[in-house]
Amino acid sequence: TLQDRLAATFKGLRGKGRLTDADIDATAREIRIALLEADVNLAVVKEFIAAVRERAKGAELSGALNPSQQVIKIVNEELVDILGGQTRTLRFAKRPPTVIMLAGLQGAGKTTLAGKLAKWLAEQGHTPLLVAADLQRPNAVQQLTVVAERAGVAWYAPQPGNGVGDPVAVARESIGIAETKQHDVVIVDTAGRLGVDAELMQQAADIKAAVNPDEVLFVVDAMIGQDAVNTANAFAEGVGFDGVVLTKLDGDARGGAALSIARVTGRPIMFASNGEKLADFDVFHPDRMASRILGMGDMLTLIEQAEKTFDAEQSAKAAAKLTGRGGEFGLGDFLDQMKAVRRMGPLSKIFGMLPGAGAMKDQIANIDEKEIDRLEAIILSMTPTERDNPKILDGSRRSRIAKGSGTKVSDVNQLVDRFFEARKMMTALASGSMPGMPGMPGM
Ligand code: GDP
Ligand code: MG
Repeated sequence: TLQDRLAATFKGLRGKGRLTDADIDATAREIRIALLEADVNLAVVKEFIAAVRERAKGAELSGALNPSQQVIKIVNEELVDILGGQTRTLRFAKRPPTVIMLAGLQGAGKTTLAGKLAKWLAEQGHTPLLVAADLQRPNAVQQLTVVAERAGVAWYAPQPGNGVGDPVAVARESIGIAETKQHDVVIVDTAGRLGVDAELMQQAADIKAAVNPDEVLFVVDAMIGQDAVNTANAFAEGVGFDGVVLTKLDGDARGGAALSIARVTGRPIMFASNGEKLADFDVFHPDRMASRILGMGDMLTLIEQAEKTFDAEQSAKAAAKLTGRGGEFGLGDFLDQMKAVRRMGPLSKIFGMLPGAGAMKDQIANIDEKEIDRLEAIILSMTPTERDNPKILDGSRRSRIAKGSGTKVSDVNQLVDRFFEARKMMTALASGSMPGMPGMPGM
């Protein structure tokens, strides 16, 4: 597995402060193989590896993780990022009905998805209308009505005797019907062909123009692997879409298609279909897909735990110092704490989650991350002895530190003053009624 190969690559690397270029190259090679094995498009792999390499170069080895874990963490974060980071949810129209159009090749799973989506929306209190704008295959209409009935939602399809009908007209009519019958969501199922086809693209584009959808979802079979990129590109160009739905994730596809499509089209993957039953459906989770692509879900959990434990140990150490049980709390501890807090996300967001944040809205909005960067730089310019014992910081030391950190002596003075103040306050807090707060010096 990738995990074993990386472990071998990193044998003997422990104890180094930074990953060397050779280490990073060796890792990049292994990850490249893993991604290609997961069926990721070659161009995407190359681009991805370049991004990871860049990030790994700047990364300091953390105390919590061994080098292979650290690189996997970087790779994983980049993967999650490309896969969309946060899941994007459906955009609903300000004025109903919200129109969702499904497009994709024949057999991709559009009609099945129409039912799944409708059921999911109905469970959330919506009143979807399923529309059969696939009049290509003889029994497509019947398949849709069966799916709709199973999902317990209404459907609209051309009536027998109306002739084969015009899918564009059917789609257009359905909007009026949704308005009169008060359906707040319309899901338009369209026809697909076995391959990319100009006539099909035109029809889908015409339907799109006729119903002006709020979301066009490109439905793609995750099992088609490399072809997914070409198909996605063809639909992006010929029809245009807002989001992607991956189907047949219950198969053994490693998920490379997902990564490739997300990267190449820049469109978020919004839903995942993982079975033939209507319930086999979920919003797409980039983190789960990333661990599937890397084939190392357990490893990722382990990394998360290692980091949490490490942070807990650090705070325990700091807390012990503050309460006088573990030596004096110094600027080095202050720096560790600051880093631990920053790892949790942007400061404005972290502070926004604290109790009482509402009353401090303005101050929170004013937290200046650059200011914090400056504080970090100042502390990093001190010697360990100075950090442990800031009392020895005389004028000449302070001016050396200011020069080293590219700041002014007044900045250094201010930091030291604030540190002493904060330590006084924190010592009181830590030994008094509010344990567990040493992560907030100086704030
Ligand atoms: P369409 O031509 O795009 O409308 O595709 P269909 O919805 O008719 O699906 C084609 C076939 O794939 C059907 O046999 C479905 O039961 C099956 N199918 C659809 N979604 C999934 C899925 O997520 N997993 C599996 N295993 N089969 C699926
Ligand atoms: Mg269909």
